[in-house]
Amino acid sequence: MKRKQENRYDPGSLLDIPFGEWSRVLELPEAEGYRVRQVQEWVFQKRAKTFSDMSNLPAALREKWDKELPLRVLKLAGRETSARDGTTRLVYQTGDGHSFSAVFLPARSGEDEERHSLCLSSQVGCAWACAFCASGKVKLKRNLFASEILEQILWAEEVMGKKINSLLFMGMGEPLANYNNVLWALRCLRSPLGFGYGARHVTVSTSGLVPQIFKLSEEAPKVNLAISLHAADDEVRQKIMPKASVWPIKELLKSAWAFQRSMGGVRVTFEYILLKGVNDSLRTAQRLSNLLRGRGAWVNVIVYNPVPGLPYERPSDEAIDRFAKVLSDRGIFVRVRKPQGTDITAGCGQLGEPKAVGAR
Ligand code: SF4
Repeated sequence: MKRKQENRYDPGSLLDIPFGEWSRVLELPEAEGYRVRQVQEWVFQKRAKTFSDMSNLPAALREKWDKELPLRVLKLAGRETSARDGTTRLVYQTGDGHSFSAVFLPARSGEDEERHSLCLSSQVGCAWACAFCASGKVKLKRNLFASEILEQILWAEEVMGKKINSLLFMGMGEPLANYNNVLWALRCLRSPLGFGYGARHVTVSTSGLVPQIFKLSEEAPKVNLAISLHAADDEVRQKIMPKASVWPIKELLKSAWAFQRSMGGVRVTFEYILLKGVNDSLRTAQRLSNLLRGRGAWVNVIVYNPVPGLPYERPSDEAIDRFAKVLSDRGIFVRVRKPQGTDITAGCGQLGEPKAVGAR
């Protein structure tokens, strides 16, 4: 029953298998196809960790499946909570001994109190080497399996005791460099047979892999897209995003608008990390607004969070406000994202190799 294991680690989880194949993988006779739905309910609604928890299924089946198909493949290795804002870094360990993090972002006071978010990782390490990012300094070890992506949510909801309403593929790794696993994870997140998240509650973030954005626009269920733009011209982008900038900004924007069209007008957000003296001039803000004007685009201005060993600095609050004002005066929706979790190095761009933190 188990899928053929090749010369590499394979968690062999049921969550890595598309729903259309569950009946075959579970070796159910045709007349018992309804049991797939029962298993889905146990996994996604009742959050069973093993088949033996599934009390309305025959004991013999549960025993057999438990031996062959793990439902949980990650271990929660630790967690650390910001004393400042409650942001929590969860450290997971894979079955082959790698560690990576996800970040739980609690609802902010004054906003919707039930709107908790989770920043998901999609790879262990990252090969895209963006100059301002701690993850880019961690050598790529491997892609995460879909099960390892989805399980981050199951564990986080259990440990934090909260329902997570918003999922952001903004943790460690470039999601679109792990295309197939991320695509299946997105289908499972959006499907009513799976997690059942609404389109507005799932955001895929990318440093701008143009061919994969086009592909995603044809193959993925409706989700939001966030593009890490971080520059208004190719020269600056080349300096701070040396690998992603192989695709010129012009091409990148074409793929963004194609995604927006084919997803029926979903929101495309452009992430823009402000680095003092690098990409924060008012002239740059004007250029950026010229690139994005008239498209209903959003810009998230991210205040740079310091990473030890990197040469960048955060601009002053006044410079940040001036930059944002140029954009909003020119009709761009702009939001300055306040730093969260920086005291535990879980802020945007700070997620490096997880250090050992208090075990659960
Ligand atoms: S910003 Fe994203 S793509 Fe770039 S190095 Fe960091 S994790 Fe990788």
